[in-house]
Amino acid sequence: MGVPTRADLAGIPDYIIPGRPPGAVLLNSNESSLPPLPAVVEAVARAAAQGHRYPQWFSEDLVAWLTAELEVPESWVAIGCGSVSLCQQLIQAYCALGDEVLCAWRSFEAYPVFARVAGVHARTVALDSGHRHDLAAMADAVSPATRVVFVCNPNNPTGTAVDARELRDFVERIPDDVLVVLDEAYREFVTDPDVPDGLLLARERGNVAVLRTFSKAYGLAGIRVGYCVGSPAVVSAVNKVAVPFAVSRLAQAAAAAALAHTAEVSERCRAVAAEREHLRDRLLAAGLSVPASQANFLWLPLGDRSADFAGFCADRGVLVRCFGNEGVRVTVGVREENDVFVRAVQDYASDAGAGF
Ligand SMILES: *Cc1c(COP(=O)(O)O)cnc(C)c1O
Repeated sequence: MGVPTRADLAGIPDYIIPGRPPGAVLLNSNESSLPPLPAVVEAVARAAAQGHRYPQWFSEDLVAWLTAELEVPESWVAIGCGSVSLCQQLIQAYCALGDEVLCAWRSFEAYPVFARVAGVHARTVALDSGHRHDLAAMADAVSPATRVVFVCNPNNPTGTAVDARELRDFVERIPDDVLVVLDEAYREFVTDPDVPDGLLLARERGNVAVLRTFSKAYGLAGIRVGYCVGSPAVVSAVNKVAVPFAVSRLAQAAAAAALAHTAEVSERCRAVAAEREHLRDRLLAAGLSVPASQANFLWLPLGDRSADFAGFCADRGVLVRCFGNEGVRVTVGVREENDVFVRAVQDYASDAGAGF
């Protein structure tokens, strides 16, 4: 018998690491299909030459770049090893054993996992029939044990977004001593002007924090850097529980260099958003039901056929992400990648005889 882990660890699911067969079209992780900009790759190489030195403790140079971009003071920004790391830090900083984290479901899978790792109960509130956050039901579900509420906007995996008025009404119903975390990992792909910029709310309210990442829009998923914007009290709490030096010198340099090229990044995001609408039209034409998305992916609520459909796509060399018997999430790739996926969809529909 080996060394026993803490008793509840067995109840926490293992990470399932998707295989990456060579040559497959990877539309299963919401990554950028395009590699980092050349200037970013050069900055990483320069940072590597200083690899024998520890990085800055709080990523001070990167914070300075970000505060210029976001127009907030430096005390308002914390950097993390990806924004998932910041999700975990927020839970660790704000929740004690027996407290509660509240989130929608389906939403980002990391929230309930991190809650359980921290010995915290994850209370979930079902999305509404339009695959959107049911913010009224979430506000109703806040209990005296609730310490942190995650709102993923746009929501992973459904791509749906809440609008500014809904979000403001929601935040006004949340007690001042409960932290609302607006996870805006896909903010840069939003094209609907009614979808709010969470920073406006964070500036006004001490109990609202925003998470963003360089993984998606900036194409730095493999380099690991994200950030949290919130009041100085939130930022210092988040920094207090950080793993020292978790944000590597390479990650700090990459993100800072990327911020010098925001025009190119925005252009790439606009192209992804345009391709998203085009892909959605093709999928609707093929008979699929596809909620409108504000992110770099689309949600296909295929129910019981989800795994079968995802397996069919994998056999045709295109990987998508299956979520139980609820649906399949497909990342918007570049046109040639999306073409491979659309062909798989069309084949599936004709194999099934009656379409979708
Ligand atoms: C991808 C993603 C993140 C952040 O990922 P990192 O790579 O850790 O920055 C955070 N939240 C959601 C909802 C995501 O989909």
